Amino acid sequence: MTAKLSIVVPCYNEQEAIPLFYPAVEKVVSKMPLETEYWFINDGSADDTLNEMRKLHATDPQRVHYVSFSRNFGKEAGLYAGLEAATGDYVVVMDADLQDPPEYLPEMYKYITSGEYDCVGMRRTDRKGEAKFKSFLSDQFYNVINRISDTKIVSGARDYRMMTRQMVDAVLSMKEYNRFSKGIFNWVGFKTKYLPYKNVERVAGTTDWSTWKLFKYAIDGITDFSEAPLALATWIGGVTAFIAVVGLIVVIVRYFVDPGSSTVGWASLVCIMLFLGGVQLLCLGIVGRYIGRIYMQVKKRPIYIVKEKK
Ligand code: UDP
Ligand code: MG
Repeated sequence: MTAKLSIVVPCYNEQEAIPLFYPAVEKVVSKMPLETEYWFINDGSADDTLNEMRKLHATDPQRVHYVSFSRNFGKEAGLYAGLEAATGDYVVVMDADLQDPPEYLPEMYKYITSGEYDCVGMRRTDRKGEAKFKSFLSDQFYNVINRISDTKIVSGARDYRMMTRQMVDAVLSMKEYNRFSKGIFNWVGFKTKYLPYKNVERVAGTTDWSTWKLFKYAIDGITDFSEAPLALATWIGGVTAFIAVVGLIVVIVRYFVDPGSSTVGWASLVCIMLFLGGVQLLCLGIVGRYIGRIYMQVKKRPIYIVKEKK
């Protein structure tokens, strides 16, 4: 029996990319000793993406499928829907914009069928064509999260990865509402092989990820996979209390050594008060972020809502 590979493609406003993506992937997979199926996920696109999917489905209804959401739920939701729909023994997740080059599929397949790995991921070795500031922020993000979280996240690893059925089921068993896939793929464990490759720019369309959006995504990743920020208040509190005790001793000693010298310094007092007020609000904000996430999880809203599926 030949194995089956499911290709999951989250798409948001990819009307130009889809007609290029499909033949490019077909060219590669048709030469592989495999059965394949496609799951395109239309993540509430505002353009003609859904029609492009319908057209592809019409050309090969047995193999090309799509799920269309009722609105934009984000790439993470698209990934989840695709993994849920996929029926293959192996599942590969790819971007529609051909930034995940299909030429690597045979090599990924070779590694995953060797039986030694449960997952083969692609890792960018450079960030050509990306703004310096964006790359800098990315690097900082990986530094921070790998220091404070037990879930290690490989720098430059994309979502382009091929997984065994076993790993896909493990990922699906994580039903959390806030989905940070980069973390989830590592959290479930299993053995991952990373293949390095050079960054490729999108074939068409524009990326939806502004620096600000990426920054928020990074913060979400940290809150989802680390409790370290919650400990910040304890640390700052401890240090401040220590400084206060030292200050108190200084004040008392000075009173006896040089009476009448301790009235000056209201300006520094105001600064200290403002500083501590700020620190308190910051810590409250951090706790608030976690509570917000608990709130969303407790409501148990569905991760996505399907409008059309074929
Ligand atoms: N995407 C999605 N929903 C969104 C944003 C993006 O499904 O809300 C898809 C998009 O169509 C693409 C993939 O996720 O196939 C990666 O997005 P993009 O190329 O913009 O990100 P980058 O490659 O720059 O990380
Ligand atoms: Mg892309």
